[in-house]
Amino acid sequence: MNFSLPNLSYALNDLEPSISELTMKFHYGKHHQAYVDNLNKFIIGTVFENRSLEEIIKTAPDGPIFNNAAQVWNHTFYFEALGKAKDQNIPTCKAIEDKWGNFDVFKEEFSKAAIGLFGSGWLWLVEDLDGKLQIVGESNAGNPMRKGWRPILCFDVWEHAYYLDYQNKRADYIKNLWTILDWNVILKRF
Ligand code: MN
Repeated sequence: MNFSLPNLSYALNDLEPSISELTMKFHYGKHHQAYVDNLNKFIIGTVFENRSLEEIIKTAPDGPIFNNAAQVWNHTFYFEALGKAKDQNIPTCKAIEDKWGNFDVFKEEFSKAAIGLFGSGWLWLVEDLDGKLQIVGESNAGNPMRKGWRPILCFDVWEHAYYLDYQNKRADYIKNLWTILDWNVILKRF
């Protein structure tokens, strides 16, 4: 299977000022594209050549094929859930309220975990094997589907996601990310 870079549903400058057009040019145009290109290169002549992205993530051993497949999937999932900032961006989500009491408690816990994740990685909201919502951090290309968990939301906390706009201030990036989440997309994932 030849993978390609998925289109965005918004323009590269639509996420400003939370995420600049320059960051999008590098993050989507260069990093995400490079993961796609590397994956296409690495799977040639392997058993993964005709597998879907999800199958590769669930079955590939640790190494370049898994890393690039997961990074393609993770970035697609991340960019898909972003969009133009709206005035009112606090969703009503019963599953979150059932687990955390109210949205602000969830937001605070998720943000704290995203800020505290050591090094490069991803912060996830997932449904675990018991159907319970969990906040989990994954290092590097980590993807919760490998454990059989179902991803609902992810924040990219690799420095390339925010360094051009925020330098070392990951907390400011995380804070502003909440304002550009597209809850129409995210709520459908529950
Ligand atoms: Mn990234």
